[in-house]
Amino acid sequence: MRKVGYIYDPIYLKHNTGESHPENHKRLLSIQKYVEPLEKDLVLIKPRKATARDVALVHDFYYPQEIMDLCSAGGTNLDPDTVCSVYSYEVALYAVGAGLEAIDKIKEGVVERVFCAVRPPGHHAEYSKAMGFCIFNNIAITARYAQQKGFKKVFIIDFDAHHGNGTQKAFYNDDTVFYFSTHQYPFYPGTGPEDERGIGKGYGYNYNIPLPAGTGDEVYISIYNEKLPKLIDDFKPDIILVSAGYDLHKDDPLAYLEVSTEGIGEIVSSILNSANIPFLFILEGGYNLEALGKSVSLTIEKMLTV
Ligand SMILES: [Zn+2]
Repeated sequence: MRKVGYIYDPIYLKHNTGESHPENHKRLLSIQKYVEPLEKDLVLIKPRKATARDVALVHDFYYPQEIMDLCSAGGTNLDPDTVCSVYSYEVALYAVGAGLEAIDKIKEGVVERVFCAVRPPGHHAEYSKAMGFCIFNNIAITARYAQQKGFKKVFIIDFDAHHGNGTQKAFYNDDTVFYFSTHQYPFYPGTGPEDERGIGKGYGYNYNIPLPAGTGDEVYISIYNEKLPKLIDDFKPDIILVSAGYDLHKDDPLAYLEVSTEGIGEIVSSILNSANIPFLFILEGGYNLEALGKSVSLTIEKMLTV
């Protein structure tokens, strides 16, 4: 069995978006319920609190301060979908810090793979803008931190149903971080057509596979079995980071990609079979509580055994 780390902390429940918001604390409670039977096989790791300086690896230097001020003033709507409450700044720093701690634990050889069950999610967050339930771009910051720790070439796979506009933008002009995304299109946030391939030296290091509503298991599995491994072989990354969003599930209320739990298991297996290097999964979306919990626990089972 593989050495797999699992990062979670009750602090993540304190990002209060309101009971009717789809991105709420119940998501992580459901994940905890379904992952608990696997915990005996996992290395349980606590996240650390990232610093504003860590956040500035990807974001505007003044942006963390702005979020801190808005939260300490009692919270507000950062955009039409994105709420921050009084604890959200601190919680968002712990979401970033999960990725950073995971990199350290991989570097130390404590674990070879890690799943971070965090919120708020991150892949929509841009340079100085919260967006789509996301405050700080957890995976993009983690990618930059990984590079500082010696993982020079980073491959990011984003299987969330929505395109990770923030992550794409962070590395659009960069040939050291490859961004690969499958997502529903046309759909929120509007980015992610095939012809967004990067610019300058980053051209060719951004790869979008836009998919229509109703796509389903067969097409998804063939993409992850056939297209993805070749891209990874050609790029030769030192580590693979995964934006693990489970709103591609057929029961998800916010997207329509119609992938089954077993299909998600196949996608994860294909990812894990694509290279013999460290893997770090960071939670993004997924809004059907039962589908989310089951899909995350299946992801972790695959991480242990594939
Ligand atoms: Zn999503």
